Amino acid sequence: MSEFLFTRIEAKRDEIVALTQALIQIPTLNPPGQFYRECCELVAERLAPRGFSTELVRAEGAPGDTDRYPRWNLVARREAARAGDCVHFNSHIDVVEVGHGWTRAPFGGALEGDRIYGRGACDMKGGLAASIIAVEAFLEEHPDHAGAIEISATADEETGGYGGVAHLAKAGYFDPARVQHVIIPEPLGKDRICLGHRGGWWAEIETHGEIAHGSMPFLGDCAIRHMGAVLDAFERDLFPAMAARHTDMPVIPDGARQSTMNINAIHGGQPEEEEGSTALPAHCVPDSCRITVDRRFLIEEGIEAVEAEMRGLLDGLKATRENFDYSLREINRVLPSMTDEGAPVVQTVRAAIADALGAEAAFVASPGSYDQKHIDRIGTLKNCIAYGPGVLELAHKPDEWVGVTDMLDSARVMGRTLERLLLPD
Ligand SMILES: [Zn+2]
Repeated sequence: MSEFLFTRIEAKRDEIVALTQALIQIPTLNPPGQFYRECCELVAERLAPRGFSTELVRAEGAPGDTDRYPRWNLVARREAARAGDCVHFNSHIDVVEVGHGWTRAPFGGALEGDRIYGRGACDMKGGLAASIIAVEAFLEEHPDHAGAIEISATADEETGGYGGVAHLAKAGYFDPARVQHVIIPEPLGKDRICLGHRGGWWAEIETHGEIAHGSMPFLGDCAIRHMGAVLDAFERDLFPAMAARHTDMPVIPDGARQSTMNINAIHGGQPEEEEGSTALPAHCVPDSCRITVDRRFLIEEGIEAVEAEMRGLLDGLKATRENFDYSLREINRVLPSMTDEGAPVVQTVRAAIADALGAEAAFVASPGSYDQKHIDRIGTLKNCIAYGPGVLELAHKPDEWVGVTDMLDSARVMGRTLERLLLPD
């Protein structure tokens, strides 16, 4: 059966190119979160004639949702005559800012050789196109299949997914009674199965001082020097401690197999002047300095320990450093997620990779989080993976591209997965 399916998919090369280009040409930049509705409608109009019921769902009240920038999501479902499992493909349609350094039009979708260029090409409009082509080829080959197929196109993954998958999960769309298998076509590579991701904890730390005239700093208390002591303690104690902790999760790349932390931002004293300003600085001792930290933690650590470790370090400074005072505000937290290697969707996609590509699948986990967290934690659906075409390292970079052959290869795997799950013998 598979050979016929694979032949159908190979014949859709021009179609997968055109669909990927059309998706890239809708500049669904996030922030601000624009053109979601247009992108959802493009997918809905394509799937409706193939027997899908399509539902546009706005995440009203979600962060960022306004009348100017509404958070629209599409859920398309096709129910077969015979009972069976539901297989759901979830793709986020938002893309990150363009940034500098492009040599192609970021929303042009230029095809050069085997590559399609554009913001979102690999992360992850190429994955969305591959899943649609896989489903269409499967339906042509097996109109009498069992169960149901869903394709969702969702908002805001790049900013946490609260206006997208989290909203759908809260509304019951990922209830395990309704959906049994979820594949998220993020760009992990066509022969790799991503089982989950590390956790994340974002916090703002502020050190407090006392304002005074800059010519007499001894009359005040410099909050930036206190922050310097915090950064020193990070270098001396925290970074070495994190580097010594390793996870059993197959996180890629290797550097992310340990605990990590990025310091996103630092602000202290008077606000920066605009570039080119000729204004001179006022003479003040800063009474506040703030940093934002992005702490990625391992499934073995636990979020309470991560927070306690940070507070312990800061309380240690408070006990030993004169006048040291701080406040800590949590900005966001994401718990790690890990699907069991024996889960049905994992083993089915693994077998499909062997069938379609003759390759042994590698199991990986993502250094950063993606929408699996909401499907797992809010939706309580554990049978979920990320699997899709593209090179992860190209995500968010200038001249982002996706390979046409990679998309077709992963469409073969997705189509074969549908055959294994929705064709009861
Ligand atoms: Zn993505």
